[in-house]
Amino acid sequence: MSTVLETEEHQALRAAVAALGKRYGRAYLTRVVAAGGHPEELWAEAAKLGYLGVNLPEEYGGGGGGIAELSIVLEELGAAGSPLLMMVVSPAICGTVIARFGTDEQKRAWLPGLADGSRTMAFGITEPDAGSNSHRITTTARKDGGDWILNGRKVFISGVDIADATLVVGRTEDARTGRLKPCLFIVPRDTPGFGRNHIRMELAAAEKQFELTLDDVRLPADALVGGGPSHAVGKGGEDAGLLQLFAGLNPERIMTAAFALGMGRYALDRAVDYARTRQVWKEPIGAHQAVAHPLAQAHIELELARLMMQKAAHLYDAGDDLAAGEAANMAKYAAGEACVRAVDQAVHTLGGNGLTQEYGLASLVTAARVARIAPVSREMILNFVSHQTLGLPKSY
Ligand SMILES: Cc1cc2nc3c(=O)[nH]c(=O)nc-3n(C[C@H](O)[C@H](O)[C@H](O)COP(=O)(O)OP(=O)(O)OC[C@H]3O[C@@H](n4cnc5c(N)ncnc54)[C@H](O)[C@@H]3O)c2cc1C
Repeated sequence: MSTVLETEEHQALRAAVAALGKRYGRAYLTRVVAAGGHPEELWAEAAKLGYLGVNLPEEYGGGGGGIAELSIVLEELGAAGSPLLMMVVSPAICGTVIARFGTDEQKRAWLPGLADGSRTMAFGITEPDAGSNSHRITTTARKDGGDWILNGRKVFISGVDIADATLVVGRTEDARTGRLKPCLFIVPRDTPGFGRNHIRMELAAAEKQFELTLDDVRLPADALVGGGPSHAVGKGGEDAGLLQLFAGLNPERIMTAAFALGMGRYALDRAVDYARTRQVWKEPIGAHQAVAHPLAQAHIELELARLMMQKAAHLYDAGDDLAAGEAANMAKYAAGEACVRAVDQAVHTLGGNGLTQEYGLASLVTAARVARIAPVSREMILNFVSHQTLGLPKSY
């Protein structure tokens, strides 16, 4: 892979993370998943080396970098076969939102732990009746004295069992207009009324997905990210929900692109190794263009998607949220599609072995689809580009 577009620091980070990933690799993750556990050793070691908090502010124990660095970490761990999905939610979404919008108390309470990996935070926006249409979410927060009372339901929320808290997207009523406005709440795992049911997925992944029930969940005033209007200096919690949400969703898309790129590269590497040596006629199968060209195509598509991811990360880290939004959507789209095709071609290249547990590629077929569906589906990105970028009319 060419790295001339990256600084020396980025190249060094890539190489160091790749070396760490190699020491763990697919075999490690396969063992962890089979035992129903979590990749705790890898998480702890990556954290100790400063990789998990590389995007968080230095004054709170982070590396002082941005999403560009964090996406390198996730991509390289994935390319080694051992991605850490919780990086997408804990340091990337929750860490970013708290670092940018949290009160000083929230920053002190959460950022050092998120940065050193000792604490994790899940992120819950998806609802059963809203799905791709997050304007329809109905998890509602109402004031009760100084407290907040949350009611609602969420689905497919990753890692709630291992996360110390979940950053829950709810809505509060605007006193002036009566319209519901998005608001983000930090809900500790064991808060009374905060229930979870494991959703059984056809995914060979360590991170589990949950349906969440919020049944009169009582939270103190300071559970609202950014605090109430009394904290507001142009960015108070109750009035800044939308801004906060977008501040978190762009890193999520960029990190999902990194996740997809890592998985695509991992699968492609396995296929290339196989095609170089597997011989059933005179030459190794990789000499047949029907085998080689789709692999070359997969490589090109992954490289192109990385360029878009780098652009999105660069714009985001430079503070251009608007341009980053468009680029992050495109990067997620491109990487998701490239990943699905790379994995499909990799499985095919291995013939029957593509479906064996020994080679472990077939389970990536479903895993790759996650990047096409979440956190925003391929179609919703095409809708976004149709309307926002191209100015085409809306059908819904
Ligand atoms: C493994 C996994 C982990 C996840 N982790 C989290 C998490 O941690 N936190 C969280 O909040 N969520 C999480 N999600 C949820 C994920 O973000 C949603 O699945 C995703 O947003 C799609 O919503 P949905 O499943 O309700 O699909 P729906 O919205 O029901 O969509 C179904 C299909 O219809 C299409 N569609 C819908 N509307 C339109 C339209 N207007 N035009 C064209 N096509 C349309 C979609 O593209 C899709 O193909 C996770 C999902 C998975 C699979």
